[in-house]
Amino acid sequence: MTKARRGLALVAALLAATAPQALAEAPAQPEHTRAIAERQSVTAETHMVAAAHPLATEAGLAILEAGGTAADAAVAVQLVLNLVEPQSSGLGGGGFVVHWSAENARLATYDGRERAPLEADETYWLDEDGEPVDFWDAVVGGRSVGVPGTPMLLETLHARHGRLDWAALVQPAIDLAEEGFEVSSRLAGAIADARELDRFDETRAYFFDADGAPLEAGTILQNPAFAETLRLYAAEGARPFYAGEIAEAIVEAVRTEENNGILTIEDMTAYEVVEREPVCIEYRGRDVCGMGPPSSGALTIGQILGMLEAFDLPGMGPGMEANHLFLEASRLAFADRALYMADSDYVDMPEGLLDRDYLAERAALIDPERSMGRAEAGEPPWEAARLLAPDAPRPREGTTHFVIADADGNMVSATTTIETGFGSRVMTNGFLLNNELTDFSRAPRDEEGRPIANRVEGGKRPRSSMAPTVVLEDGRPLLLSGSPGGIAIIPYTAWSVIRILDWEMEPQEAIDQRHLVNFNGPTGIEAGPEAEVLAEALEALGHDTDIRDLNSGLHVIRIENGRLTGAADKRREGVAAGD
Ligand code: GLU
Repeated sequence: MTKARRGLALVAALLAATAPQALAEAPAQPEHTRAIAERQSVTAETHMVAAAHPLATEAGLAILEAGGTAADAAVAVQLVLNLVEPQSSGLGGGGFVVHWSAENARLATYDGRERAPLEADETYWLDEDGEPVDFWDAVVGGRSVGVPGTPMLLETLHARHGRLDWAALVQPAIDLAEEGFEVSSRLAGAIADARELDRFDETRAYFFDADGAPLEAGTILQNPAFAETLRLYAAEGARPFYAGEIAEAIVEAVRTEENNGILTIEDMTAYEVVEREPVCIEYRGRDVCGMGPPSSGALTIGQILGMLEAFDLPGMGPGMEANHLFLEASRLAFADRALYMADSDYVDMPEGLLDRDYLAERAALIDPERSMGRAEAGEPPWEAARLLAPDAPRPREGTTHFVIADADGNMVSATTTIETGFGSRVMTNGFLLNNELTDFSRAPRDEEGRPIANRVEGGKRPRSSMAPTVVLEDGRPLLLSGSPGGIAIIPYTAWSVIRILDWEMEPQEAIDQRHLVNFNGPTGIEAGPEAEVLAEALEALGHDTDIRDLNSGLHVIRIENGRLTGAADKRREGVAAGD
């Protein structure tokens, strides 16, 4: 067993050993978090997986060992995550994949984002009085469910970049669903904390015991309905999810559960995964690339990094000066995001959001000594800008990110989601359905009647923050990164690039650093030792501050001279491992 593999076995054993009592005594820091927090970056020569659960990492490694490609492994990883981390992602949701093909030296981005029903319009989230419904009233039930993209996304990935037999990639999740897996302390905590998770029968029957108590850590959980779904997926691929029995079950669940939606079978058959041009920005001689619209991820990260290029971050190193500059660049980028960014198949967007001159102008607004407070959106040369109104940011927790490197040098950086933890709470055929339609602005216009770019429209994809990222150096991958965390995905991922590349931190050290975020409001400081001291220093520069948990789930691999160095976020229960 290599060092990295031993690490994986150790973490899996620690996860399994976490008793519910231990949790009750130390709710702030579950045992698995402490164990994982002590890990170092792991290194490997051949291939590597970093994902949000040891069983998912293990499944991906088994596929790589069998000669599978990174895309093959991604299928197995995602399906096991659906089972063991069901609150975050799965066949009922969507996601984005950035894929590097070593043979073609080509980066491709795949959009498997959910879509609104074709009959939906901008009044979708308004109540009888024409007011936007409350967030939680929107989340729970069929109305928030968009057409899932993940079943077709995985199939597309395999068709384009896979090597092994499709059914073999589905099998690890089938085996685990049948045999059962141990509910981790994190999943048990999420079940106990989730709002209204017991509202719908199938969901309640799965996540609660016969007496209605939430499942405890250590419970062995089987999911025969999911195994059945996966057998169909193995035999027939994604088709039944869009034009067959699973599609019909999804439509029925969406239309009949309380707070029902209007999804039709036509919406399901009309769904498409779209390959889109990667969005890249050159940052200190490297290309930072990721997913363009409907995600705001790569554009907003690109703006932050593009502005920071005006400052000597490598020279100044980590510290208050760099923190302040990062937070101010974030304010400016989030102001543009709120006004301009949405599904560009539906909304015209300025082409110049990553324009060098424009970003230099924006960077010039940053005062290294004093916060600007609230930033205004800029004016890239584009007429329609004045017609739009900005929307309000909303931080969320959920989602999963994984990275894979195979023996041939192919890479996957993938972020997938069902939106909030446990999505819409509606379950069918053993998996949860997303609540992605709440990623649209619920208000379609501002008080003056100006449209908000991210309003609901029929067939549109809600704006995302997901930012699976691949950094290229001399046209070859140097770093894979990304995270869950709603809009905080953007600063988490941007910080990982700065810390690993500008400051040459080891990947684990880099992602362990305290998070500082700004979405063009107060500065969020991750709770922890000395948080107050940091808050005081930032307040002295004019920031309003807010100390809170910032639960990233960064999974990264750095590739240097053929050597892979990976890390998994100590804030979750994932693990990086390779051979
Ligand atoms: N649905 C969110 C998005 O696409 C991600 C949610 C999360 O990471 O918690 O931006």
